Amino acid sequence: MNSRERHIKITADLGSEEEKCVICHEVPYEPCLCASCEQPFCKMCILNWLCRSTQCPACRKEMDGSKLSVSKFAQRAVNKLQCKCNNEGCSTAGDYSIVMEHNCEYEPTQCTAGCNATFLWKDSTIHYESCLYISTLCDCGSTVKKKDLEGHYKTCSSHMNCLHGCGQIIKRREEFTHSTYSCPNTKTHCTHGPSFQCPWVGLRSDLPTHIESCLFEKMKGFLAGMQLQVSTLKEKVECQSRTITKLNRNVEALHRRIDLLEDEKADLLDRIDCLEQNSEDESVDDNHAHTWSLDVRDYNRFRNRRFIESETFTFDDRQWSMRFYPKSNCVGLALEDSDDGWLDMNVTIVLISGNTDQNDMVTFNYNFGPNTRAVARPLRSGRKISEDPMSAANNFENGTYIQFDLFLSDNDE
Ligand SMILES: [Zn+2]
Ligand SMILES: [Zn+2]
Ligand SMILES: [Zn+2]
Ligand SMILES: [Zn+2]
Ligand SMILES: [Zn+2]
Ligand SMILES: [Zn+2]
Ligand SMILES: [Zn+2]
Repeated sequence: MNSRERHIKITADLGSEEEKCVICHEVPYEPCLCASCEQPFCKMCILNWLCRSTQCPACRKEMDGSKLSVSKFAQRAVNKLQCKCNNEGCSTAGDYSIVMEHNCEYEPTQCTAGCNATFLWKDSTIHYESCLYISTLCDCGSTVKKKDLEGHYKTCSSHMNCLHGCGQIIKRREEFTHSTYSCPNTKTHCTHGPSFQCPWVGLRSDLPTHIESCLFEKMKGFLAGMQLQVSTLKEKVECQSRTITKLNRNVEALHRRIDLLEDEKADLLDRIDCLEQNSEDESVDDNHAHTWSLDVRDYNRFRNRRFIESETFTFDDRQWSMRFYPKSNCVGLALEDSDDGWLDMNVTIVLISGNTDQNDMVTFNYNFGPNTRAVARPLRSGRKISEDPMSAANNFENGTYIQFDLFLSDNDE
């Protein structure tokens, strides 16, 4: 805004009266000079003057308004003047141009809305916020000056009187919010109702009186502390119950694992029982004491011996060996050392040879005693093995052999 239009008053330290505009007696604004006397005038002052006169107001000589122009020389002189702002409270001072062009906050200003109020430029916003002559846009779409709003509401389609008789005019669309949260004529709960269950219900206008005597208002600090403690404990309990759930799941998993192991254990016990049963059966039914294989490829070496003897083996805690007598075609049995009395044994020796006709079985009882430690019995077949051992032999991968199977049992049983 142009400072002159805002009528800023400035004072300047003028060297002489001649430098002032003789019409307004101020520092000349946009100075124009008289061609005859060189007296400076404000451009607007002299143009206004020349509407009524054709003479210079200083020297009274004829002046031609159409030839007037702002004097650069005079403007430079004016610009060098030291000035200060005249508005009360403003401290702006310095070169003329600076003071003239500053936006003075202390400039007295009149309301443009029509209320006639005068205020400082800096207070414009405050004034216009409360000025009743300012127009506002009503919800109904009409533009209404604030001072006329109350009258307007009486006919306005988007406003209404509060139905609860509180006397307030409210927007129709805010009726619910008003009666629920702010109308003094509607019922409300004590503000400590939701948090502490104060049972008080009454008109909102009576709430301040109730609060003064409300027990919960007096104890609210204490109660809030308690609530905090309770919620902390709740959190702890929830955390622990989560832990318990987790542990329960672990326990369930362990139970399932135990069940599996129990099943496996039962299986194993069954198998052990079965094995024990088998071994008992074997020990009862099978008196198989020893198998002896005689390699016939060595037969010529022992063909003339009285007997050939197997390696010793253990039966019934005693050391035994089997014998074959080549010349007499007998099989026999020897007890290595029997110093503990008589021993009555059932003996069966089965000869298994390659020729099935040659298979033979010898069965007898024999009482082993201190002086009789060996016994021999003839094979029943007529043909002697010693005559043709190869034809009697079994062929087996690594050798050619005749096999003797011995079955022994104690005769006491
Ligand atoms: Zn003037
Ligand atoms: Zn003049
Ligand atoms: Zn100022
Ligand atoms: Zn106003
Ligand atoms: Zn309206
Ligand atoms: Zn109301
Ligand atoms: Zn209460």
